[in-house]
Amino acid sequence: MGTDNKLPGEGKVAIITGGTKGIGLAIAKRLSADGYELIVNYHGDDAVAESAKLEIGAVRERIPHLVKADVSTSEGAKRLIDDTLEFAKRIDALVNNAGITRDGPTAKMPIENWDDVINTNLRGPFLCSQAALPIMSSQRSGRVVNIASIVGRTGQKMQANYAAAKGGLITLTRALAREYGSLKRPITVNAVAPGFIKTDMTGVLPQEVQDFFINGTVLGRMGTPEEVAGVVAFLLSDDASFITGAVIDVNGGLWMG
Ligand code: NAP
Repeated sequence: MGTDNKLPGEGKVAIITGGTKGIGLAIAKRLSADGYELIVNYHGDDAVAESAKLEIGAVRERIPHLVKADVSTSEGAKRLIDDTLEFAKRIDALVNNAGITRDGPTAKMPIENWDDVINTNLRGPFLCSQAALPIMSSQRSGRVVNIASIVGRTGQKMQANYAAAKGGLITLTRALAREYGSLKRPITVNAVAPGFIKTDMTGVLPQEVQDFFINGTVLGRMGTPEEVAGVVAFLLSDDASFITGAVIDVNGGLWMG
């Protein structure tokens, strides 16, 4: 908070894809606390989305605008951005968080599982960025944060689809940072690479797999969605004005680059 008591996100509009569960929900709650006007996207789970809306709304008594859209499709991504502009008139921040896993051995991976993961985790951020960045460019300001993964750094067996998508997302981050940043248009594009974080996505893993990752983590535990959300809030803040094309690891020491 500045000396004028203004919250860091006051007067700013942020879109969070997949903002109704896990890491996305924590980001939404954190950005709401920081004063942002929120557009919260999800895809399938209406009941959870409605309760997330109330939970986010309770943070500062500001109900977020929910947009149900599949960001892996051109139509869904365009509708998310169009709806945002109609509702809020501007876009200050885009957090590409929506992601899925369809794990399995490469030799037996159905091509649909490859396509679904690539489309949601890589095509989705591309399509949303493609629609949002020209708006940011005409505003001469804006921030994009992509939620990548430690797996996009290291690779991971049984996750060829997910690793390829997240590795691609890291390089997409750098490409867009180079294409959209300039002195006159100080738009930044960064990625956050979480390690092993306690959400529905990791909750489905067998206990021995969970123990394996926890044992490999220097800090000896899973991370929380709030610990990822804090780093996203930082990247959207004025304090991060000279950071672009960066990948910030939030992994408790599970991997050090
Ligand atoms: P999660 O709890 O499964 O939540 C995923 C969210 O994404 C839900 O709100 C879901 O909405 C939404 N979503 C999925 N497909 C979508 C689509 N096509 N269009 C729009 N929204 C969609 O996942 P999480 O664990 O919080 O993960 C969030 C992000 O962090 C992902 O990108 C993930 O890869 C990344 N990550 C997670 C971890 C971890 O340990 N959990 C580690 C590294 C990176 P519906 O349920 O309504 O479809």
